[in-house]
Amino acid sequence: MQEKVMIITGGSRGIGAATARLAAAAGYAVCINYRRNREAAQALVAEIEAGGGRAMALPGDVAEEADVLALFRAVDDAYGRVTALVNNAGILERQMRLDEMDVGRLGRVLSTNVIGSFLCAREAVRRMSARHGGRGGAIVNVSSVAARLGSPHEYIDYAASKGAIDAMTVGLAKEVAAEGVRVNAVRPGVIYTEIHASGGEPGRVDRVKDTVPMKRGGQPEEVATAILWLLSEAASYTTGAIIDVAGGR
Ligand code: NAD
Repeated sequence: MQEKVMIITGGSRGIGAATARLAAAAGYAVCINYRRNREAAQALVAEIEAGGGRAMALPGDVAEEADVLALFRAVDDAYGRVTALVNNAGILERQMRLDEMDVGRLGRVLSTNVIGSFLCAREAVRRMSARHGGRGGAIVNVSSVAARLGSPHEYIDYAASKGAIDAMTVGLAKEVAAEGVRVNAVRPGVIYTEIHASGGEPGRVDRVKDTVPMKRGGQPEEVATAILWLLSEAASYTTGAIIDVAGGR
């Protein structure tokens, strides 16, 4: 059984893929969850294996409880109890005002971003916590500076979903602090990934980068390094923390 076992949700591209690469190099057996893009997830596994690391690709929609249960059971069977969870899967829909949003959109955004993170955190705690006979572990939730900024005229639904993740991070951190489990979050700013194209704004990072004090967008690797630090023993006394990785935004 592996010493360090990580699950990364939505890990086939973007911040999740950058985190998977760094995690494999740091000695984790990496479980890359994907929703649709099996080819990209398998290509990432092949790349990690070619570099001497251990990885596997696992399908599943984090908003579906049955999928999350199956994902964690598959990891139990392959590598043993998970020791690190990165709640990275997230969606952003087209920019619009609240008075134009329908309930279907609100349901989709909250289901993936909030319920997905809660379900995966619950399954991780059931395996990591000393209350459940676990050997401890760490969780990092991927929030957003949108939780602080509110994203008016763009996507306050997304901002609100990330605000829920921040509150869960602080509350769960305290709930499991004495059980060997640390829970932290990162709040990326504008990062060059495909999420902006999914939201109908492929050029968004370049469009808003002048509003960033550092006058540039971030790279996925710059978020991944913060995630890896929070998961590592170097952060052994850090829990309930939310770190902005946003160029000062
Ligand atoms: P991305 O779109 O490349 O990655 C998101 C991944 O999550 C995709 O692989 C997608 O397929 C997956 N996913 C979506 N819904 C899922 C579901 N229900 N189940 C499983 N997987 C699902 O974008 P990214 O920027 O790498 O996003 C990673 C995280 O970073 C997200 O939580 C996002 O909200 C957050 N974030 C990104 C930025 C940015 O500027 N890129 C800023 C702040 C926060």
